[in-house]
Amino acid sequence: MTLTLDRQTSTQQALNQRVFNFSPGPAVLPLPVLQEIQRDLLALPGAGSSVLEISHRSPAFDAILEEAEANLRELLAIPADYRVLFLQGGASLQFSMVPINLLRGQDLPASYILTGSWGRKAAVEARREGRVHVAWDGKADNFVRVPDDGELDLPPASAYVYYTSNETIQGVQFRRPPAAGAAPLVCDASSDFLSGPVDVSGHGLLYACAQKNAGPAGLTVVIVSDQVLERCGNDVHSMLSYRLQAEKGSRLNTPNVFGVYVFLLITRWLRDEVGGLEAAAERAAAKSGLIYDVLDRDGGEFFVSHAARACRSRMNVTFRLRRADLEDAFVAGAAELDLVSIKGHRSVGGFRVSAYNAMPVEGVERLRDYMLDFRASH
Ligand SMILES: *Cc1c(COP(=O)(O)O)cnc(C)c1O
Repeated sequence: MTLTLDRQTSTQQALNQRVFNFSPGPAVLPLPVLQEIQRDLLALPGAGSSVLEISHRSPAFDAILEEAEANLRELLAIPADYRVLFLQGGASLQFSMVPINLLRGQDLPASYILTGSWGRKAAVEARREGRVHVAWDGKADNFVRVPDDGELDLPPASAYVYYTSNETIQGVQFRRPPAAGAAPLVCDASSDFLSGPVDVSGHGLLYACAQKNAGPAGLTVVIVSDQVLERCGNDVHSMLSYRLQAEKGSRLNTPNVFGVYVFLLITRWLRDEVGGLEAAAERAAAKSGLIYDVLDRDGGEFFVSHAARACRSRMNVTFRLRRADLEDAFVAGAAELDLVSIKGHRSVGGFRVSAYNAMPVEGVERLRDYMLDFRASH
């Protein structure tokens, strides 16, 4: 694909080029948010400069940071004894920051619940810092489900218990957090963050990169309890220290100013347009349900669902065609209808339909209709 920079393209023409983008991330953003960014890119209201040009120590950014945190606290009902950090390095840096802060120098193991590719990657980094105990591993089943609490093999004590609330690549999701016992529960919530309410108080630390459901790439939100911060080690590089990042209010160095700003707009959109996280959860269940219905009614004759029914992700729907020879035709036909980025991850194959908060229901309906047509004509 060549990107042509045609200076004659009008805003309206650009708007008309927009497709239904089912990418797993970076992913679709709400159109009203994009339009607001577009307007404010010349001058942030009241600041006289673009959000790309203001200091991270300016009053304008103070206000952005403050409101972004306040909105998030309201949406997720974050208790007062939790800190919110706006960091960089993606979710993948958290694979390292979690064990660097909470496992390094400990006698206890960290317990990992492995339900897909991202959890496995996190465990690899943890092993560099200390002992990792695998409390459950879905690999033998090809990561089609998450465990029941009764299946978890947890040692008497763990430095923390780690899980991935939604495995983006396999499309399996926890309906509620696993029972971690007394150990702090740590969650990688990257791909279902802000898709519904979460019991933050049941977690010691919860993090998410923004580019799936909450903004642009380059911003990672970490929610961490004061109790967990107190446990963090002291022998940590400054930029990797949760405690120092919390003390400096996410401004130990220059944070992702633009990312935090977009995140702020997303939280406003979620509150004012979507109507909060309960409403977001209903929308997610309804949208993903449109595709799962097709898979279920088909009964595996034409479409084959990847995830077990009880663990199906409401963000990333994974399936394949029984006839793999039709895959290219399926993708090409979808693209003709402006339904793009539906190919599965190379490690799983088949298809993955990511329908995050910002995906309009019309996009999912069009895809549903296309799937039914494609089946009928093959
Ligand atoms: C995308 C994703 C990651 C990796 O995010 P980066 O920001 O690219 O490091 C980690 N975990 C989950 C669950 C993801 O969906």
